Amino acid sequence: MQTLGILGGMSWHSTIEYYRAINERVAAERGGHASARILLSSLDFAEIRDCQLREDWAAAGELLAHEAATLERAGASSIAIATNLMHKVAPEVESRIRVPLVHIGDAVADAAGRVGARTLGIVGTQWVMSEAFYAERLRAHGIVAIVPPAPAQVELDRIIFDELTRGVVTDASRAVYREAFAALVAEGAEAIVLACTEIMLLVTEADAEVPLLDSCQAHAGALSRIALGDIAADALAPRETAAGR
Ligand code: GLU
Repeated sequence: MQTLGILGGMSWHSTIEYYRAINERVAAERGGHASARILLSSLDFAEIRDCQLREDWAAAGELLAHEAATLERAGASSIAIATNLMHKVAPEVESRIRVPLVHIGDAVADAAGRVGARTLGIVGTQWVMSEAFYAERLRAHGIVAIVPPAPAQVELDRIIFDELTRGVVTDASRAVYREAFAALVAEGAEAIVLACTEIMLLVTEADAEVPLLDSCQAHAGALSRIALGDIAADALAPRETAAGR
């Protein structure tokens, strides 16, 4: 069994789902009392959110990189950042570890390949939708990312931080997400990426006419395969990234 290093707590409402999904997969594969070897650093999300609101990505990157290096020293043979948004500082984290970073975008691209989708609608926090770092990682896998218009991005982001990352789920917010999914499908999305690890707490497959690719489950699924030794920790990385390591 490989030891996974996970940076979680962003928010804890989705970190629980990672923990559950990885252990369920390992138990199903190995049977008996088997469970995953996990080193979890569960951060104080208030500190991270404060960095986000100040747009102090250097401080956020330092926090995550420090924790990642600590997990590596403790024996993790790979590191995962259990949020989409904080992959904005993935380069800073990668620069401070020698073991592979299992990028959430690579796991999403793998999930897209399984349903045969190349044009993906992205819903998540505003930075994930409006900045290039997430779409570029998907593009490295030959995927075209389309995002909602700016006013919709603001409302989708508000629901994440005012509600979902605090464990609040409402029918009104589900309706907003359903509307965003439908608009992206009308734009040509063949599948929708739930590119925030809490959105799956709000919606189900029945809320869209195309497959929903849940980033949390995709990432956790990849991590469980790595834990089991079924794939190498850099197996899903775009070819040039894996070769460059
Ligand atoms: N969990 C969310 C994500 O996957 C947002 C929370 C955060 O990292 O700020 O992007």
